[in-house]
Amino acid sequence: MKLLPSQGSLFAVLFLAASCANPVKDWSAQTEITKWPDGKNGAISITYDDGIINQLTVAKPIMDSLDLPGTFFIITGKVEGSAKGRFIGREPETIISETATIKTDSTNFFERASLIAFTGTTEAEEYHANVGSLFEAGKVSEAYLLLDEGYEKIRNGRLKDTEDVVFHNNPVDTTTWEQYKSYEKQGHEISSHTVTHPRLAVLDEANIRYELEQSKADLAKFMGAKATFSAEGPYGTENERVMEYAHKIYPALRNRMPEEWLEEINRGSQKQPGNTDKEYVQWQRGAISTTGIDQMKAWTDTVNAHDNIWLVLVIHGVEDYGWEPLKREELVQYFGDVKENEDSVWVATFGDVTKYLRERKAAQIKSELEGDTIMIKLSSDLDAAVYDIPLTLKTYLPEGWEGVRLSQNERDINLKIMSDSNGSYVSYSIPSSETEVQLVKLEGN
Ligand SMILES: [Zn+2]
Repeated sequence: MKLLPSQGSLFAVLFLAASCANPVKDWSAQTEITKWPDGKNGAISITYDDGIINQLTVAKPIMDSLDLPGTFFIITGKVEGSAKGRFIGREPETIISETATIKTDSTNFFERASLIAFTGTTEAEEYHANVGSLFEAGKVSEAYLLLDEGYEKIRNGRLKDTEDVVFHNNPVDTTTWEQYKSYEKQGHEISSHTVTHPRLAVLDEANIRYELEQSKADLAKFMGAKATFSAEGPYGTENERVMEYAHKIYPALRNRMPEEWLEEINRGSQKQPGNTDKEYVQWQRGAISTTGIDQMKAWTDTVNAHDNIWLVLVIHGVEDYGWEPLKREELVQYFGDVKENEDSVWVATFGDVTKYLRERKAAQIKSELEGDTIMIKLSSDLDAAVYDIPLTLKTYLPEGWEGVRLSQNERDINLKIMSDSNGSYVSYSIPSSETEVQLVKLEGN
């Protein structure tokens, strides 16, 4: 269209008015990192606890056939070659003999609750677990009494080995580090669930640290740094004292995250994830034997009905083995349904979703229009060697751009122009280490 002079000035006035009213014309705010990668609506992380053999021999192959990644929180002390569980502290004989004359109280509780698991019998391990359960339920004096009862039996030689597998030290869980390493190469995440699966909330500092740090050290030694990112403290503990140590040792805990932009709904909560003023919701659901496939599919529908939900699925037993097992047929149906939703839902490991969200929140973006080029600069305080998930960017375009080329590391890609209520835009993925991107206007189409 050729404009007459009078029409031209009118057009200019209208254009200016539109510029003031429409923030899209403000070039300092033209590029954003999308809430989820590649135009997805939400995310699902499929996680497994305890390193139970059927998770790896039954569930994982189904996921592999669909190219879905999972996160496996493993008990490192069970894996051949790694450090075993042990008590860190004073001479056990001294501690045990003191229990004859000094009742358990707040001054000796953690030391005694730490030691009892390693006094040599499965019944003693069970005392540790039950004492921890009472303590975390707020029944502190009952926990003291139960511990006194356990030590009385130890002193009198009345604790026995039972059939029970208290620390999930199932003899059939024989997965090797070599196998775990190959699973990681397939795209799965292997992560810490401590050395022995204790009740961390009733351990003293030295023993909490050993369970967390030794597990991390073995993962680093046998798997490499990537496997030291995520962890889950056993029994889903949210104990403050434990979280304080654990957050310093592992960047991402499924138990609880410190981010103020993330709401967390744990497995025990009936709260629905829809209503929140936080930007993201981590919605944990435990799939157990009685859950049923319809309920599991409905969780995915809920993710799809919103734009802020990260569903974290927690699975324990599989087929006929482990706590609250899911049947193979249920898993086939469920994973198939997840796969069908992959157009709108990002299926990724617990660590990868954590990384994307943190990368997005930490990034500073500058977009500037210089002639026919949009210069985009990204910066972040995060360590790019750890936070390595590609980011999806969305850049709104100035008026009149009919073609766009992405210029990046000697790589040129012509981008498809799309539009929404804020105007026309392009969307593209860049490596998290990328600090500069250019979008160049192409003439015509
Ligand atoms: Zn567990």
